[in-house]
Amino acid sequence: KLHRPLEGKIKTATVKREGEHWYIIFITEVDPKPLPPSEEAIGIDLGTNPHFLVTSEGEMVEAPRYFQKAQAKLATAQRSLARKKRGSNRRRQARRRVARLHRKIANQRKDFHHKLARRLVNRYGTIVHEDLNILALSRSYVAKGIHDAGWAQFLQILAYKAEEAGRRVVGVDPKHTSQDCPVCGHREKRPLWVRVYTCPQCSTLLHRDVAAAQNILARAWTGPSGVAIPCPRSPGL
Ligand SMILES: [Zn+2]
Repeated sequence: KLHRPLEGKIKTATVKREGEHWYIIFITEVDPKPLPPSEEAIGIDLGTNPHFLVTSEGEMVEAPRYFQKAQAKLATAQRSLARKKRGSNRRRQARRRVARLHRKIANQRKDFHHKLARRLVNRYGTIVHEDLNILALSRSYVAKGIHDAGWAQFLQILAYKAEEAGRRVVGVDPKHTSQDCPVCGHREKRPLWVRVYTCPQCSTLLHRDVAAAQNILARAWTGPSGVAIPCPRSPGL
């Protein structure tokens, strides 16, 4: 069964077993397929529950419903497994069911990541996100919690789709992005439960994560070492 049509020149093939399922993974080399250039740029904030990510334009992307449902089912199956007697036939069946649900969820997650990355790459010439390696060392990473396993995979898919399409993906230092006012730069620490960003200095009012995404976007124009990169939208910045 071919999950995705093979494209390009086959470089390697790896055989892998996951439970009772066997896979052959092909690595192929493809020529880049650049998309027409886009001046549009977007910042994305890797979301706190229930959002998978929030954009600088105010779009809030949630993990799909069917995915949340499957996770609830998995939790039930795991509880049922825990109740079964060791070494019993029923335990073996329950374990197989848990493994099946795990695999289904992993596949659904990957599919969601592919579609979301495709949509962003098709539209935006520049996509800016938090650098996961730096984020992992920060306090807000713990607060963001639950989605972490998914982010690395999503950003990897996003990076290779962008490269193939000749688009730019930038990871920036996320420090203070949830404390700064994207309009005037006022910095203020707030407890995590405060969902709305209100600036006492310029009275900007924004969803906290949208404000963070706008700060993330703005950082791409100063680069990781403070070197200015021309902004395609407003060349003066
Ligand atoms: Zn302000």
